[in-house]
Amino acid sequence: MAYIRKKYRELLQYMDDNCHLPKKWDKFVEKQSKYHNLIIKKAEKCYCTNCKHIFESKKKVNEETKCPNCKNKYLIKRSNLKYHEFKDYLALLENVKGKLVVRYFELSTTYNNYNNDYKITHSVVEFARDFYGEIVQTFINDRVSRGLGNKYIHHYEDAGIWRMFSSYYELIRSGILYPYNLKKILKDTEYKYSMIWELAKHTVYVDIPNLLYCAKNNKSFELLVKMKLYNLALKSNYFENKDLQLQFKSIKQYYPFMKKYNISYNQFEILKIINEPDINKIRYLQRFSASVLNEILNYISVDRLIKYIKQRRGKIDIYLYKDYLKFAKFLDFDLKNNRYAFPKNLKEEHDKLEKQYKVQNEQLINKSIIKRSKELDGNIYKDKKFIIFPAHSYNDLKEESKQQHHCVRSYAEDYAIGTCDIYFLRDIEKQNEALVTVEVKRNAITQSRTKYNKEPSKIQSDFLKKWEKNILRKVA
Ligand SMILES: [Zn+2]
Repeated sequence: MAYIRKKYRELLQYMDDNCHLPKKWDKFVEKQSKYHNLIIKKAEKCYCTNCKHIFESKKKVNEETKCPNCKNKYLIKRSNLKYHEFKDYLALLENVKGKLVVRYFELSTTYNNYNNDYKITHSVVEFARDFYGEIVQTFINDRVSRGLGNKYIHHYEDAGIWRMFSSYYELIRSGILYPYNLKKILKDTEYKYSMIWELAKHTVYVDIPNLLYCAKNNKSFELLVKMKLYNLALKSNYFENKDLQLQFKSIKQYYPFMKKYNISYNQFEILKIINEPDINKIRYLQRFSASVLNEILNYISVDRLIKYIKQRRGKIDIYLYKDYLKFAKFLDFDLKNNRYAFPKNLKEEHDKLEKQYKVQNEQLINKSIIKRSKELDGNIYKDKKFIIFPAHSYNDLKEESKQQHHCVRSYAEDYAIGTCDIYFLRDIEKQNEALVTVEVKRNAITQSRTKYNKEPSKIQSDFLKKWEKNILRKVA
């Protein structure tokens, strides 16, 4: 068992003796346990365990439905269900002798029907404490089961002994934060302007260490909370290095919309891309990364994208589709035509176009290389021993890399668009045999390699230096 320093032992003891749960705690717990109810279905009849109302519903078992009486949405279970358990995590901030402490609780509701009496039991227990200081010190009690990999919170009456938490497994640190004491607790701390209390009232689950980190370190946190963009405040690190105003510039007019739906960072990015304050569209698309969506929208409209995904009943490899569209566009397919934009067998069509794309792309690259090499022919240079000349085609590059066992082939595209020039140094007597491959940028040698990426010999290097000085530099 890890040794607890005296200071912390005393603080833990002090808390056990003096820290009582706040006044509104029971109400807070009760509010959370409201979600821990079920709709019990027998034939067509549904029974709401929250308000005891009986109603009819066509919804199936394991779907959610709204109780028409209490208006809450619950999971439907069959009436022969024997046991069900709900779990939620709650967090409570305390100020203990000037130290900020986060207390973590598990709220568990068990639903027991072994005796056909729908017995529901709520229980909430504390299992961990984080002490904030220069570093965060974490303690757990005997309720935490310490099996490797598995974490389990036992709902024992007695918390047992507090001990240092050793991080063999992950501890749950995300939870619903008790909001009503925060302003008072944080009054004399570095969080006094943070507005965490406002955020806590408007968010459900938060990663507590992340919240405290953002509130302390990110300048934009407080501003985003004041703007009532609580979910964005929790990602305020994304707003730190850039100008906040700039990030909002293109979508300023959507601010009321963003506030209304308390949009997440991913939703925020999608909004910027689709430039349309439509929460249904945004929610539909939010499972995809914003950057891949952004690329797809270069090829087809957002409405057509959604139409296609719906056609496929939501099943789509979005990266594959993005590549498919890229190839189709390159190959001049009419993407306004659904026949091309909405392939029936995406994988098959993708592979087909990829092949065509590669062939055509290679042809295009080859054309450019031939054109460039003609411009570079003026740099051909020789002495009694060596000759140097530019690569004249895509095939030349392939052949060179085959003989040299290196990857000059992958320079083909750069060479074609003129980012670099590729030359071959060869023996004047054996001009078909690869010897040294040379990369040139802005009339200076940037790389020269022989077989297996080795450096050229002294005599080869001297030749290259002469060439660089007398030919390349003179051109410049
Ligand atoms: Zn109800």
